[in-house]
Amino acid sequence: MHDSHIHLSMEPLKSNIEVIIDNFTSKGGKYILTQSTDLYDFEETLSMAKRYPTIVNAALGLHPTFFEESTVWKNIYKNIYDKSIQNIEKYIEIVEKNIKEVTAIGETGLDYYQINRDRQLDREIIEEIQEIQRVSFKKHISLAKKHNLGISIHARDVNEKQECIKDVLEIVAQEGRGTVKGCFHSYTGDISHINDILDLGFCVGFNAIITYKSGEDVRQILRKTPLDRILFETDGPFLPPQSVRKNKKMKEKYAQPMDVKEIMEVAAEVKNIDIKKLEEITDENYERTFLENLI
Ligand SMILES: [Zn+2]
Repeated sequence: MHDSHIHLSMEPLKSNIEVIIDNFTSKGGKYILTQSTDLYDFEETLSMAKRYPTIVNAALGLHPTFFEESTVWKNIYKNIYDKSIQNIEKYIEIVEKNIKEVTAIGETGLDYYQINRDRQLDREIIEEIQEIQRVSFKKHISLAKKHNLGISIHARDVNEKQECIKDVLEIVAQEGRGTVKGCFHSYTGDISHINDILDLGFCVGFNAIITYKSGEDVRQILRKTPLDRILFETDGPFLPPQSVRKNKKMKEKYAQPMDVKEIMEVAAEVKNIDIKKLEEITDENYERTFLENLI
């Protein structure tokens, strides 16, 4: 059992790392791919991989929402583009410098949802940030290509609009069809795009959303995804599984790597397959996507 997408450098995971790793391995867990999201958590991400070299794999990336966090949220409206490009260049430098310690690229992708949450932003600024996200995403793909690394992709649309996933699919097709492998993590978009994702050779990452009552749409996506393209993830500390959500005694509710077990149990039911068999296949998917052909 592996967790293909989590943020170990975020709290409360970071402060409880020893217990969390112990919980995971005692349930039979093997690998955890921890994803960085901004320029400030690379060090922590790399140091966790160093501390647990046989368990924790490091992914380095700039999350698409990093660009408004580092500019708009700080009221830096001037030179958003230039400042962001500088940050992307800094990111590439850090990856190159630490390439031996880097297992994957991510998380990266596009997020048109968060920008549009702030209705006060001018259309112009929204478009500028979307363009920066696309530039960043392309740079992440070319880094993954250069070093033959798997990539973890985030794609989040605004409500019913499908501009974001369409742009993501187009960019991957143009920049990395057949040359880049990876995962569309926590895909909650329209089911009609699943075939496109599969055509690009990518896996789909499923987390605790499938354990929720409200998760029927994502369970439907899981039904449609072939076994050899399924990855499990927790996206911790976000998205605690249903058993944690329901537990009134637990004060702090968050997802941790051992929750892959509960996710896998639900997935085995949805796919009507023996859980051991499912674990075997999805473990192989992780290893093929993120651990093979590394330099
Ligand atoms: Zn994430």
